[in-house]
Amino acid sequence: MAHKARKRFGQNFLVDQQVINQIVSTIAPKRMDSIIEIGPGKGALTFPLIDHLDHIHVIEIDRDLISLLQKKSNKKITIHESDALVFNFDQFTKNIRIVGNLPYNISSPLLFHLLNHRNNIIDMTFMLQKEVVDRIVAAPGSKVYGRTSVIMQAFFDTELMFVVPKESFDPQPKIESAILYLKTKSEPLVQNLRPLEEIVKIAFSQRRKTLKNCLKSVLNQSQTDIDLSHRAEMLSVENFVTLMNDYEKQN
Ligand code: SAM
Repeated sequence: MAHKARKRFGQNFLVDQQVINQIVSTIAPKRMDSIIEIGPGKGALTFPLIDHLDHIHVIEIDRDLISLLQKKSNKKITIHESDALVFNFDQFTKNIRIVGNLPYNISSPLLFHLLNHRNNIIDMTFMLQKEVVDRIVAAPGSKVYGRTSVIMQAFFDTELMFVVPKESFDPQPKIESAILYLKTKSEPLVQNLRPLEEIVKIAFSQRRKTLKNCLKSVLNQSQTDIDLSHRAEMLSVENFVTLMNDYEKQN
């Protein structure tokens, strides 16, 4: 029986062969790569990828899709029936590469879950809502530069690779998508996520106000060299790291 797309699992299947080829070229898989695909669905990316690989691991939550995949599968594909949000990516050896046309409804929590496993990850290539990708790659001064941009850019080099039109999917999503490439920095700008998250959250709590205003209960101008008369959106990721260090000294 044909599979009916489930909205709750964010199922928009890729049907455009040209886009699929473009994604595979972006990933540029090499035989021995340890690739893990999140949400293989019916295998639109899995099968083209496996042509270039010795093996692939896939993580899928929908049992019906898993049965479909198992029928088409071969021993080069290991299927993990699991929720990617709680999946332990540390079970793999180091140097994994993660890919996927992600279920949009869980993209933010999933990115944060993966952030906690970053030490094992070389890079990630994901299809996401374009507006989410725009936020992740945004530069200071941009309207969409915010918490996600600072946190992701502290740990990854980020790049929007290309935009994917709605027509490339079945069913078609309401919004535009884009391919995001994240390469884990060999020297992350910070070691710990928590204090950076804290300061960034406070700094962006009221975007229209100055940092002096937002941070008044945790840090004042005499405690940092960062000019607090600016708004948070004007600070570079490096500035935020300085701010975080000064904040940590006080708290
Ligand atoms: N890769 C396929 C394609 O490009 O056609 C399917 C992509 S579809 C946007 C997202 C896939 O992620 C679906 O197969 C869906 O069942 C799966 N999925 C949704 N939530 C998930 C979760 N929490 N963990 C693992 N897979 C999930």
